[in-house]
Amino acid sequence: MTVQGLFSSKSAAAAQISAKPRFAIVGRGFSGMMTAIALMKTVRTPFHLQLFDPNSSVSGGQALSSAPASTILNTRVRDLSVSAGDADDFNDWLCSNAEFRAAVPAAIPGFRQIFVPKEIFSDYVYKRFSEALSARKDITVQVCPEPVVAIRRSHGSRFLLESGSCANPLFDMVVLATGYGLPGTEEPGQDLSPVRAQRLIARPHTVLLGSGIRVVDQLLQLRDAGYAGQITILSRHGFLPQSHTPNSADPVFPAEALPSNLPEILRFIRTACHEAEREGRSWQSVMNGLRRHARSLWRGLPAHQKRQFNRHLRAIYDSHRNRLPEAIYARLQTELASGNTILRRGTSGRQGLGGLFFRPAGSQSDEIVHAERILDCRCRGPQLTSPLLASLLNEGLALPDELSLGLAVNQCGQPCLDDGSVVEGLFAVGPLGLGSLPDIDLVPEIVNQAYAVGERIAMQFYPQSKAV
Ligand SMILES: Cc1cc2nc3c(=O)[nH]c(=O)nc-3n(C[C@H](O)[C@H](O)[C@H](O)COP(=O)(O)OP(=O)(O)OC[C@H]3O[C@@H](n4cnc5c(N)ncnc54)[C@H](O)[C@@H]3O)c2cc1C
Repeated sequence: MTVQGLFSSKSAAAAQISAKPRFAIVGRGFSGMMTAIALMKTVRTPFHLQLFDPNSSVSGGQALSSAPASTILNTRVRDLSVSAGDADDFNDWLCSNAEFRAAVPAAIPGFRQIFVPKEIFSDYVYKRFSEALSARKDITVQVCPEPVVAIRRSHGSRFLLESGSCANPLFDMVVLATGYGLPGTEEPGQDLSPVRAQRLIARPHTVLLGSGIRVVDQLLQLRDAGYAGQITILSRHGFLPQSHTPNSADPVFPAEALPSNLPEILRFIRTACHEAEREGRSWQSVMNGLRRHARSLWRGLPAHQKRQFNRHLRAIYDSHRNRLPEAIYARLQTELASGNTILRRGTSGRQGLGGLFFRPAGSQSDEIVHAERILDCRCRGPQLTSPLLASLLNEGLALPDELSLGLAVNQCGQPCLDDGSVVEGLFAVGPLGLGSLPDIDLVPEIVNQAYAVGERIAMQFYPQSKAV
């Protein structure tokens, strides 16, 4: 293993690198790091890997990037393994960590069912990355702390990347793992506080925009920090995250053939949930089962029904799939019951000097919500207008999906073109494919996709190589 920059002789490093095929990963969030791990474990012949990202930490996507390191994740340990075919890898890593074992003795003999803080999962991902790197004396890795602003085909099947400062070499393969884009001025979680509100409110009042996990994290952070004022959550649909079950809900799903149109699919799922509960199981296990069918169901829907789903049902789906650990859900319910936090359904508009224009659901007119602080906790999708993605679209290297939620990709993230062909050597992993692959923003799905990319590259570039 060599990380360029630690090399004392640059020319020796350059000579070593130039002989190897070059791979680039753009974005070093979870999807980028996971793809790097998968490549190191799957592609058994030497290569040079260049990782681009001006952001130095694996932050947890927009749902978690501004959350403190101690924030508890909403997925159980058993679903966060980064090892292909070994669902217990994260649990085993925790079991081998004496400090963690001492701190969480009640969970012995294993930690599969528990929820851990964000920092522990980050440590685990970095550790597995550095172990995979140490095991490969034959590869070189270079970290470039700069954004990539454009990508073009060059010299036939190779790629030219334009990034901040240096002239880059040509790459044989590029993985885009840019998730929700570069942190910028429109970043969710930003403080939109009005300037005159202090004089217009009788008591401290904070507004949170959105309704996902991010809102709940922000609400509990404010309370943990001692904030006792009124908190109003303004949400278009008003669906807050639901609760996990005390123990993991093993996936169940009816064996009958699934209907093919949206209203019947909904009836089918509702009935399955009722039946599961009648049989002493939970609706959560049906939702977990549904995730295994989500991709084929989504693929089978005509575009207008996909749009309908997006407009009317996505918020409900998200509130049932992104669930809260029971204890956190109970805290949220207590907050709402206290009346000191209220949830209002409606549309938030522009912000004036003293507050926010808000149209309550069912009303024909706006009102102004006065607050000394307005925090935007809404999640946004990948930005197709960013310079990098715009260049990709202009070059004909990718197309938006039907709903323009992201790029049109196949299961292993290869961009799909109008004529049904895919762009060889190029991949878009993680949330960039959300419009084509439901749930591709979640850890288990990203892990599977990263290994699929690794296998595809191993086959494409080195048909004789074998995965380990
Ligand atoms: C600590 C942690 C905890 C998590 N917890 C959960 C969980 O409990 N449950 C669950 O299912 N999922 C969880 N996730 C997954 C998470 O919800 C996101 O879906 C996931 O992090 C998305 O990762 P990403 O790398 O695709 O996107 P992002 O996290 O958005 O990262 C994208 C990266 O690309 C960089 N970038 C963007 N544009 C450019 C450019 N032009 N050039 C160079 N770089 C660029 C950005 O700076 C950023 O670092 C977790 C992830 C982490 C790391």
